[in-house]
Amino acid sequence: MSSDNKTSPLDPQDWDAFRSEAHAFLDACMDQMQNARDYPWQPVPEEVKERFAIGTQNASVTERLKSDVLPYGCGSPHPQFWGWVQGTGLASGFLSEMANVVTNINCGGRDHGAVYMERAVIDWTRQQMGFPETASGVLVTGTSQATVIAFAAARLRALGANVRKTGQGDVRLVAYASGGVHNASKKAIELLGIGSDNLRLVPTVDGQMDVSALAGMVAEDHASGAKPFLVVGNAGTVDIGAFDDLNLLADAAENLDLWLHVDGAFGAWTRIAEAPYRCLTDGIERADSIALDYHKWMYVNYDCGCVLIRDEDEHRAAFAARPAYLQGGARGLSGGDPWFCDYGIDLSRGNRALKVWTALETYGIDAFSQAITGNCHLAAYMASQVGSAQNMRVVAPVASNVCVFTADETLAADAQSDLNQRISEDLQENGEAVFSTTLVDGVKVLRAAITNHRTHQTDIDAALAAVMKARG
Ligand SMILES: *Cc1c(COP(=O)(O)O)cnc(C)c1O
Repeated sequence: MSSDNKTSPLDPQDWDAFRSEAHAFLDACMDQMQNARDYPWQPVPEEVKERFAIGTQNASVTERLKSDVLPYGCGSPHPQFWGWVQGTGLASGFLSEMANVVTNINCGGRDHGAVYMERAVIDWTRQQMGFPETASGVLVTGTSQATVIAFAAARLRALGANVRKTGQGDVRLVAYASGGVHNASKKAIELLGIGSDNLRLVPTVDGQMDVSALAGMVAEDHASGAKPFLVVGNAGTVDIGAFDDLNLLADAAENLDLWLHVDGAFGAWTRIAEAPYRCLTDGIERADSIALDYHKWMYVNYDCGCVLIRDEDEHRAAFAARPAYLQGGARGLSGGDPWFCDYGIDLSRGNRALKVWTALETYGIDAFSQAITGNCHLAAYMASQVGSAQNMRVVAPVASNVCVFTADETLAADAQSDLNQRISEDLQENGEAVFSTTLVDGVKVLRAAITNHRTHQTDIDAALAAVMKARG
């Protein structure tokens, strides 16, 4: 304790001044979110990049946040942003972020409110996915991390708990997924030391994994002395939004003795959409694990994802470990069980549950259901408008919220790719719309993944008009 009652230089010296400055800044932030339409992505000017250098500026931090930070976000709150798969963020996030600052929660374990809240969020998610009460989960940065956790549990089932001590030795584990699988699965396979050559791509029929081809590949790998252990089902591929038939995959996984993991980063949320979109994920309840994000199609602020594991024992077996300095107590702060550090990679971890909880409690589940269903309708609308525009063409069926198209199908493949790339860049830089691009049948195409609760039909019209204009 300091004897002279001085405030630490790391706390405000004048709380009243700090409070009024912070209130004014909060208003500026709210103004921007309320008027998200006026804040498309824009490139960061060179002088702004330079001003980030630590210790070089005199203006107050709130002034600099207003001039150098707020205008240069990634653009995802804007109603005409459909690039990659990025959620819009929610105003309820203001509340959760404030509460998180003041409580400064470490959610790795121990006994405090956020642990119970996280369990409630996981439990709600578990119910939406149709998992049994014996399932467990943990909130993570996103589907990339969720996938590592799920695959680690799958590997432990294949090789036994000793794998944690001895590594996997000479065993060649093999995993399977369709060609549309996200790079996150490949990364997880690499990180676990399985080697990405052992993630085999199974052919598809109408965008869905061909389960008889899968059975053939598994037999082949058994015959060569390898150990097939995992099949990844796609609930919404990142490129074109294709959904595997999860019931067929669950049958195949049972017959072939494979762990079924579902990558539902965004598409898992069709579970709370209305018909017919909800049916896309029928069978997800039969998976061994599911990875999903709240920061994409639940619109929750970055970052927040979740892994669910059907069997809590298998989940814990892959991660639980409590050295002496983390022993739980019978009571007090070190009490409480389970601790989330026994379910994943991180020990110290923030209170991610709060932003999901505030979102659900503020707007209600029906509002999410409507927004997700509405995004699917808008993707279908986009496809129909593209279809009736001269020379534009939708290049993959629109299953849910992803629409991929070319701006001019009459051009040769290379010229189409160049045109679509140029259009996406022009529209981004003009602040008109954000499409990303991807390859479909060797052609670079424009791609919209509508995970945006602010998009209206008129936004689609305006963006497609901008595409036409840019096409020239
Ligand atoms: C975004 C995405 C991922 C990766 O998730 P992150 O939250 O970005 O880590 C994995 N799979 C699919 C289908 C995705 O769309």
